[in-house]
Amino acid sequence: MDYLKGLNPPQREAVEHTEGPLMIIAGAGSGKTRVLTYRIAHLIHAKKVDPFQILSLTFTNKAANEMRGRIEQLIGLEARNTWMGTFHSVFAKILRVESEKLGYPSNFTIYDTDDSKSLIKTIVKEMRLDDKIYKPNTVLSRISGAKNRLISWENYINDPYIKADDEAALKPKMGEIYRAYQKRLFKSSAMDFDDLLFNTNVLFRDHVDVLNKYQQKFRYVLVDEFQDTNLSQYLITKKLAAVHQNICVVGDDAQSIYAFRGADIQNILNFEKDYPDLFVVKLEQNYRSTKTIVEAANSIIEKNKAQLKKIVWTHNDHGDLVELIKSTSDNEEGRMVASAIFEERNNKKLNNSDFAVLYRTNSQSRAIEEALRKMNITYKIVGGLSFYQRKEIKDLMSYMRFVVNQDDEEAFKRIINYPKRGVGASSVEKILVAAYEHDIPLWEVLNNASSFLSGRAANSISDFTTMIKSFQMETERKDGYEAASTIAKQSGLLRELYEDKTIEGLNRYENVQELLNAIKEFVDNTENEDKSLGAFLQEIALLTDNDRDKDDTDAVTLMTIHSSKGLEFKQVFVVGMEEDLFPSQMMMQSREDLEEERRLFYVATTRAMEKLYLSYALTRYRFGRLLNCEPSRFLEEVDPSCIRVNKRKGSQLASTFRDQTNGREGKTGFIGLKRPATRAKTAKIHTPSPDFKPSNTNNLAEGMQVEHPKFGYGKVLKVEIEGSNKKATIGFKDFGDKTLLLSFAKLRIV
Ligand code: ATP
Ligand code: MG
Repeated sequence: MDYLKGLNPPQREAVEHTEGPLMIIAGAGSGKTRVLTYRIAHLIHAKKVDPFQILSLTFTNKAANEMRGRIEQLIGLEARNTWMGTFHSVFAKILRVESEKLGYPSNFTIYDTDDSKSLIKTIVKEMRLDDKIYKPNTVLSRISGAKNRLISWENYINDPYIKADDEAALKPKMGEIYRAYQKRLFKSSAMDFDDLLFNTNVLFRDHVDVLNKYQQKFRYVLVDEFQDTNLSQYLITKKLAAVHQNICVVGDDAQSIYAFRGADIQNILNFEKDYPDLFVVKLEQNYRSTKTIVEAANSIIEKNKAQLKKIVWTHNDHGDLVELIKSTSDNEEGRMVASAIFEERNNKKLNNSDFAVLYRTNSQSRAIEEALRKMNITYKIVGGLSFYQRKEIKDLMSYMRFVVNQDDEEAFKRIINYPKRGVGASSVEKILVAAYEHDIPLWEVLNNASSFLSGRAANSISDFTTMIKSFQMETERKDGYEAASTIAKQSGLLRELYEDKTIEGLNRYENVQELLNAIKEFVDNTENEDKSLGAFLQEIALLTDNDRDKDDTDAVTLMTIHSSKGLEFKQVFVVGMEEDLFPSQMMMQSREDLEEERRLFYVATTRAMEKLYLSYALTRYRFGRLLNCEPSRFLEEVDPSCIRVNKRKGSQLASTFRDQTNGREGKTGFIGLKRPATRAKTAKIHTPSPDFKPSNTNNLAEGMQVEHPKFGYGKVLKVEIEGSNKKATIGFKDFGDKTLLLSFAKLRIV
């Protein structure tokens, strides 16, 4: 069969082993998803399986669509009829048919996170509990965690350990909230996200006939990204496959990155126990990436203790070395990344869509977005709104816009009752009618609100106009940053966000801080003569207009590492490689957490096919302050022979973008080697001497002889200090001259 030619022997074995349980645990880029795709094609084409009898579960719906498209290419339109999608989407579909068995109508509503939180808020209020203790986010994630472990509210309330745990956390009413929440959902004929899986489990547990029906229906079950399934998902798959046992799971324990959402790596280990006649296929050849990238990724993940040992190698070329970008600030990082993309795209005739910029947290996209816009490079944000589209950013920007221009109706509508100040929709309507039907300026209407609004609303409007007037005075007297900070604080907006201490709340708070940082950088920039708030708003408005005209089909992808799982791009930039940011300070409480962060780094690096860039900034505006940053410990973990710290000063593009932070002239970033490192690929890697132990290099000086674990013996030609970094240029016997950062390089003074 023709399409089987596109597989190597172990892949083909996995595809052709259609009956019985099968597990593939293999490294990134080894063709796991490809095997699933071909396997489905093979089942339909060669084994004549009815496509309706195949269920395949993917991590995103996009991945499912892509898979479906590929199968169509292989065998034609029949592929359309397979069941394919995320756990949530597939089982929501099944629940629609079966919901009456659970007492739900088939038109039940699915609540999104905001609906859920709003309901929790109401319940907490009705129960007269302190909403500072029972914050919607905290409560919801606790309930969600319980549901993912299949703990019903009844079990939750009756479990002495859970009870003790909640009491210790000073949240003894958690179980009662959970109960009330479920009852309310039920009364509203609604399920939240976790209910979709929880209720599927209940359905299969309590209705054997229904379970039976689906067990017969799905003769073949396939699961991609198996390492990130939680207990609830695991049990669903196990039950469904119990009769035919034709279950095929693929995954990579080294890419398990959703433990914080209940994903359990144990599912892989249990799988072997659950299916004693399990057939295991190993895939070791990577088809995605260059040798350099594969080696770099291997060198990272081998630092993790908790992992199944795997071999990953590739026949692909060495390709370019991993390039380390160092910049003085986050804004400069954005410009460096944008100009590197620009150059690479032109030199190598690539499309925008061949590039991805990956970051640890959403708020990092701001500096990258701005730089890309300035260079007219189209981009898209995956799995998140563009920075300036986010609600919290729009809210604060609306305040600023309204302070600058009181005719701005859209801004007015956003802020008049946010944060809540008791101006209802009907009052707003009256104001707008007065302003637009009688053609009176909005601001004038607001200042005369008492003539046509009732006491309470009129008072609130009067307070509002007084506040706006004070902001206007502030804006006239002070620079944009100070004015914006005052607005953020005194409008109550910052407080509102600050009080939400959950991860999402923190994220929103950080985003607002990030906007303030952007204004601060704008004000600090010596090139900007006009430092007013109005000038800043205009700059941003122009950027946005520029962006709007574009067709976004060929776009650079910006996203968090979490959402990049399973994807691949020719060139990948991992930005913000700094301590506390990545690994993230917020997520790190134990060795396990560090290992999860490291797996995240492994996921990021293995998205790259041809070239990987790692980037860090020496300073970053966070929380309105310019902070010094240290390079991430992860940078030291990458095999140094795979990395190049290159100087791009000569690059015309890079040099057109001067560092604007605090008016410093940018000695723009790619710092390092004097000589192209291409020789590293041909020279034989040195085997360190048996007594090799890195020396303290504080007193390293010109003329000294040193040994490097990979490059062998050499002589120190020069030692330089740049910022907080000390570099040495060493003439290696076999590898030529190399400039190494002494904080990374392991050198033995001979
Ligand atoms: P990840 O762990 O990141 O999800 P994966 O193991 O699922 O990776 P795939 O995405 O299936 O890997 O494959 C990586 C790339 O290698 C894809 O572009 C795929 O088409 C290609 N590939 C895999 N196997 C082969 C093969 N036998 N011949 C040619 N290309 C292949
Ligand atoms: Mg995959």
